[in-house]
Amino acid sequence: MRIDEVQSTTKKQRIATHTHIKGLGLDVAGHAMPMASGFVGQVAAREAAGLVVDMIRQKKMAGRALLFAGPPSTGKTALALGIAQELGSKVPFCPMVGSEVYSSEVKKTEVLMENFRRAIGLRIKENKEVYEGEVTELSPEETESTTGGYGRSISHVIIGLKTVKGTKQLKLDPTIYDALIKEKSREGRCDAFATEFDLEAEEYVPIPKGEVHKKKEIVQDVTLHDLDAANARPQGGQDILSLMGQMMKPRKTEITDKLRQEINKVVNKYIDEGIAELVPGVLFIDEVHMLDMECFSYLNRALESSISPIVIFATNRGICNVRGTDMTSPHGIPVDLLDRLVIIRTETYSPTEMIQILAIRAQVEELAIDEESLAFLGEIGQQASLRHAIQLMSPASIVAKTNGRDKICKADIEEVTSLYLDAKSSARLLQEQQERYIS
Ligand code: ATP
Repeated sequence: MRIDEVQSTTKKQRIATHTHIKGLGLDVAGHAMPMASGFVGQVAAREAAGLVVDMIRQKKMAGRALLFAGPPSTGKTALALGIAQELGSKVPFCPMVGSEVYSSEVKKTEVLMENFRRAIGLRIKENKEVYEGEVTELSPEETESTTGGYGRSISHVIIGLKTVKGTKQLKLDPTIYDALIKEKSREGRCDAFATEFDLEAEEYVPIPKGEVHKKKEIVQDVTLHDLDAANARPQGGQDILSLMGQMMKPRKTEITDKLRQEINKVVNKYIDEGIAELVPGVLFIDEVHMLDMECFSYLNRALESSISPIVIFATNRGICNVRGTDMTSPHGIPVDLLDRLVIIRTETYSPTEMIQILAIRAQVEELAIDEESLAFLGEIGQQASLRHAIQLMSPASIVAKTNGRDKICKADIEEVTSLYLDAKSSARLLQEQQERYIS
């Protein structure tokens, strides 16, 4: 089995609202800067998360996980993403919601396993021959002075090249010779040129006429899930029947345990050979209280694995039932898993902090908005949630444009707030008008 070239399957849409987050915004001493890397406030949680990053780097988080506990929209997802970014720009970040495990087609543990593999990266280093630049003709005299002599025989050309290791006689295929003498620059370029071919081997290197190739190290970052998906793709023909067959096949069942084992084998071989290295990423599970005992026992085991990603849970629940049982527990998490957790609290934002976050989002989304509107959105954020306030900005900008303005003003926001309900007002309304709904 071989590993195909793959496209990343990162869940992009779910992190789109966090594009402004570039890290945790800590100084060298680990203190949170008031506004940095897209982060505002939440100082204690950011500093605590910074310590966790240090623990991860020192491999002290093995077998443990992190839990962010706090009210909705207090930056739990943003903090988890910040941690992944502090660990490195190519570190995979896989966000999921607890309730995602409930599907009629796929087993719960299968969903968890897939997300675990999305959060484990693999950096593959390959030496590839890549096309390098254009070449133009040099006269034989120029070549001679550059290279220290050449001769032609019927089947090959003998060319003396100055290399970094000294002058070498090299037997070349005429097509390579053509490519060589077409090289534009002189001695310096020829030196570089000579080293690009394996002169020790003194073999013919067939390259297309007129093209110059160079070996380059190509680094590809993929996740284990990318490899699973790429190798599970149906390999059928292009005729209608096999295309139909591919469409009928539910995609989710294509990746089998056997396939994963095969992939693991190839990956381990690559790691042993030094071609690849594992890059453990971050698996973020929001609404952890939605998971049940089966999921929790899977997670307990998976955390012990030698190739586990960093697992970060988040919840906005206090003491509640562990789903599917009548056992109550803090955050709905069984005590044996709670025992493994480092818990960080997130706090609600002050109006000023909310306004600052809203201003950052407006900038990122390239929305022009006046001060009064930002302050008004800040108030809405306080009453409803920060996320609701952020979400009102796009429709408000459409309203502004419809009214012939580029800049969002307070009236636009008032208009959209009359159109959309936030979760709290919706719940209040439902309660007030209970008799009008089917229960
Ligand atoms: P929930 O519990 O509802 O999932 P959450 O706690 O995960 O919410 P986020 O989704 O991280 O909250 O935050 C809501 C929005 O506010 C996101 O766009 C996020 O990037 C932004 N945000 C939250 N906190 C901060 C902060 N301290 N600085 C900058 N942006 C923030």
